[in-house]
Amino acid sequence: MRVTIVYDNTTGQENLAADWGFSCLVEAHGKTILFDTGARADILAQNMKTLRIEPSRIDAVFISHDHWDHTGGLSAVSGIDRMNIYVPGSLQSMPDLHGLRRIAGPAKIFDEIFSTGVLKAIEHSLVIRQEEGLIVVAGCSHPGVGEILTAASAFGHPAALIGGLHGFDDFELIAGLSCICPTHCTRHIDRIAAMYPQQYVSGGAGRVLDL
Ligand SMILES: [Zn+2]
Ligand SMILES: [Zn+2]
Repeated sequence: MRVTIVYDNTTGQENLAADWGFSCLVEAHGKTILFDTGARADILAQNMKTLRIEPSRIDAVFISHDHWDHTGGLSAVSGIDRMNIYVPGSLQSMPDLHGLRRIAGPAKIFDEIFSTGVLKAIEHSLVIRQEEGLIVVAGCSHPGVGEILTAASAFGHPAALIGGLHGFDDFELIAGLSCICPTHCTRHIDRIAAMYPQQYVSGGAGRVLDL
């Protein structure tokens, strides 16, 4: 499977825009899922174009939580007829969207692809099951990385964690992971990188992770 970071606070590529927010494209088990949409539709659309991502091949959008830096770009990809948009049940900002699917508890999105269910009434994370373990994609990790990994464990053994980890500093919790890509709002990226040099992968728009 492949995760391509489309929208992030930073980028290592000159032809991509960096902007506060997060979005990544997840291609796994024959499905293409856009995880979050960044803050601005024009930037999301431009970065997708540069990365040669056709909006029409997106099967579903997964919105982790109702914060502007994750929902703001949605108009760049919404309106595709067959596309479902999975959101936390509490989402207020876009009540009339076509294809809206409100998530409460743990849920199957596609075969081998799940939502942790909404944790602490704010955010859910995407879980992809592979033979090597689970790939967990998080928006900002507002519920806490420990809570997210525990919820994901209902589907198997977490192997990778990608996304925004906010103020996460309970670093022992991620010692068992084989891939850690902390980005977006993660406050302690440098410490995580120093502590887990083998597992650490830097984020930024344009980063491609083959897992
Ligand atoms: Zn955020
Ligand atoms: Zn947030």
